[in-house]
Amino acid sequence: MSRSAWSGLAVHSHPDVVRAVHEDYITAGAEVIITNTFGTTRFLLEPAGLGREFETINRNAVQLAIQARDASGRDVAIAGSISNLPPGMNAANYPDPDLELAGLRELAAILADSGVDLIALEMMQDTRHATRAMEAALETGLPVWLGVSCKQRVDGDGLVSFDLPNMDFARPLDALIPMGPSVVNIMHSDIDVTPQAITMVRERWPGPIGVYPEVGEFASPNWSFDADATPDRLVEHARGWAKRGVVLVGGCCGTTPAHIAALAKEFG
Ligand SMILES: [Zn+2]
Repeated sequence: MSRSAWSGLAVHSHPDVVRAVHEDYITAGAEVIITNTFGTTRFLLEPAGLGREFETINRNAVQLAIQARDASGRDVAIAGSISNLPPGMNAANYPDPDLELAGLRELAAILADSGVDLIALEMMQDTRHATRAMEAALETGLPVWLGVSCKQRVDGDGLVSFDLPNMDFARPLDALIPMGPSVVNIMHSDIDVTPQAITMVRERWPGPIGVYPEVGEFASPNWSFDADATPDRLVEHARGWAKRGVVLVGGCCGTTPAHIAALAKEFG
């Protein structure tokens, strides 16, 4: 983990671990794996001293996923992750809009050229940065899975964006869904808010909906996981989501290969 680029440096520092993580999830039954490129735009890698490695890191991130898939002999889709993470995880550090869009385009193009099957936008939460990510992803011509993240409003009813307590969750949905994703994923959101989020997405989106929740949080320097969120409990909730039309389920932060194995057993 890096203060500047989240998990973005792991491909450079620990490539064998990244490949092994992909392999563990494929073995558990995952049908889609996501590249470790959540934090690898040039403007995130530069403050970490790795700006010149930008292209190599991103091409290698896709290669590690491809190697894991090819070794498995299984038909697994590879999603190229793109986020709106600001440098240093501080929104004041976003580059100018033109540079930000250029950085997102550059990443999307490299992921597409390196062989991902689709782009997974992750933790899209607002109407400005997220629309730039969406624009960059759509330009690749690949299917774009729009991942949105929300939580319960602290001072009342309704949902807000995960990191933006004043951003009504309807706003990013209304800005991004009309741009034309292939799938809308409710991801990195708590299990408890997911039913309400499904309702809000369904009101705006007739197409496929996916859910991959988080069950833990990063408390530097380590992760803290929700021990109650067992694989069985995730399956129990996922049955309810499936009844409401959700066609893709998985796990985000805090979930493990055991969670994916349980989902695969239930739905695979
Ligand atoms: Zn997550």
